[in-house]
Amino acid sequence: MQRERVVIIGSGPAGLTAAIYTARAQLSTVVITGKLLGGQISTTHEVENFPGFPDGTTGPELVENMKQQAERFGAKFVYDSVTSVDFTKGSPFLIKTDGEDYLADAVIVTIGANPRKLNIPGEAEYTGRGVSYCATCDGFFFRGKDIIVVGGGDSALQEGIFLTKFGRSVNIVHRRDELRASAALQSRALANPKISFTWDTVVEAVKGNENGVVQAVTLRNLKTQEVYDKPVDGVFVFIGYDPNSAVFGDQLAMDSTGYVTIDHLHATSVDGVFAAGEIHDSTFRQAITAAGDGCKAALSAINWLGVREPILQKLDAEEPVTAAN
Ligand code: NAP
Repeated sequence: MQRERVVIIGSGPAGLTAAIYTARAQLSTVVITGKLLGGQISTTHEVENFPGFPDGTTGPELVENMKQQAERFGAKFVYDSVTSVDFTKGSPFLIKTDGEDYLADAVIVTIGANPRKLNIPGEAEYTGRGVSYCATCDGFFFRGKDIIVVGGGDSALQEGIFLTKFGRSVNIVHRRDELRASAALQSRALANPKISFTWDTVVEAVKGNENGVVQAVTLRNLKTQEVYDKPVDGVFVFIGYDPNSAVFGDQLAMDSTGYVTIDHLHATSVDGVFAAGEIHDSTFRQAITAAGDGCKAALSAINWLGVREPILQKLDAEEPVTAAN
């Protein structure tokens, strides 16, 4: 089994930044990437608000640059997912993946969050056949098509605007008559001639055709209770995210919605386990806030290891020598 000074679970901006810091501090660092290197940001096409890129950048480019920067200092990347952890016995912590097990003196959890589902008939059946949670991944398949976007937050509007590069029309279906998204995104969306809005409305079902691809959605107007079918080719769902904390079971303290709770040093309830990014942050959810979090968690882990080791060495030296027999 490999033993590392630091194992980072997750490879979004939080994990990649943490890896830059711990590897640069000369601590052997392994990043267990999860299914998708870079996490959610790698599915975001335009990143216009990450400092240092006056002309903007793309999610995949940002991720690749951060990864290379971490590798330059010696961080190793394992393209695998964590299947279980044992944080109950303290450091070193056991981390199991599909491929290999790791022991880590310190752990930084940056496992992020996943897109929330509508949980309506047809959604799972037509995922990948017209239903999508990633405009960057799937927008290209909807060139010249009619798309609906579900949600009224920043994600729905940002990705909806992006989808107008491909679709003939983008209709944003929102359950209220007021958007949650920022004023800047609202003005851009409202000014975009390809974007229209359906207010006070929820999607109740996704329907397919004889070829097994989406052809319509069933909508319900919550004010009038009118139910009707609307022909569409693509359904993009952006209704928020859920934290990926299930793998930790009850080993880390969490809030009622599954977000890991941390103190101001990014320490979790387990001594030696730190957390950063969307696994604890349901509010800001920005690449830059995740990166800042990753930096803070890494500095705390570096400090924790640095304080702990002289104590362990002293305890080792003081251990009474016992007779061989
Ligand atoms: P969000 O802000 O939580 O918005 C989710 C949207 O989906 C809301 O409009 C909500 O409606 C709607 N919704 C939730 N559950 C629904 C359901 N079951 N059926 C229909 N509609 C449902 O999520 P987000 O847009 O992903 O943004 C999350 C965070 O990331 C925010 O802090 C945001 O600022 C940030 N973010 C920022 C940027 C950027 O700055 N460029 C881009 C993306 C995300 P209600 O409004 O009625 O609750």
